Amino acid sequence: MSPFSAATLRTFPATFESLDEQGLLTPLMTVGELRAALTADQRTVVDQVMELRPGDYGVATPYAGQVEPVPTDLVRVTGQEYAAKGRRMSLSAKYVPRHVHDAYIRMNDAFTAEQPGRMLLIGSCYRSPAYQVVVFLNWLINGYHGDIAKTIRHASPPNYSQHTNASKAAIDFMNVDGSPSDGTPEDFLDTIEYTWLRQHAGDFRFYESWPEGNEFGMRAEPWHWQYRP
Ligand SMILES: [Zn+2]
Repeated sequence: MSPFSAATLRTFPATFESLDEQGLLTPLMTVGELRAALTADQRTVVDQVMELRPGDYGVATPYAGQVEPVPTDLVRVTGQEYAAKGRRMSLSAKYVPRHVHDAYIRMNDAFTAEQPGRMLLIGSCYRSPAYQVVVFLNWLINGYHGDIAKTIRHASPPNYSQHTNASKAAIDFMNVDGSPSDGTPEDFLDTIEYTWLRQHAGDFRFYESWPEGNEFGMRAEPWHWQYRP
């Protein structure tokens, strides 16, 4: 059962590509900016995504809180690099609420002191409600062929996402070897970074939200650690 129009879903990839080319598709995008770029049918789908409840699909993701405006104290993180298959790659700009960034810097310094040459890279952190809708739709359309029940175990609607809740924002970590990769993200379980996070992240108030077999029914995401003040 899908409340979404399949014909409208098919129109989103071209729209997102165009928004990306215009530099608008960033984690800071506002709902107003997104809606202004869409057709009436697409806006209907966006509204439907905003109202999805994971519980209706057998997923007990906790409610993350009312959708908040984009915070004003975000730290813009640039210049992050990793090497995958012998090629140097750089990450697009990431945005981290100031207090989460402070805790991250302390944690990464501790990690790097133990593991010279390595780093806990930020693959994703804060995402505005509009950007979270884009992330959700990308997974729904490209990853799960329109299957909401599968998508919602992986990407949450904004009200349930730990990436849109600035006070307790989650970080998706990456390592300097490019893990988690798109193809085999579960390989992150075997990294030095994951082992270290399991032992030490709690000292810096970062917690693994979705371990294997978690009680919420979410897909395991060993790279996703929520800051809990
Ligand atoms: Zn995440």
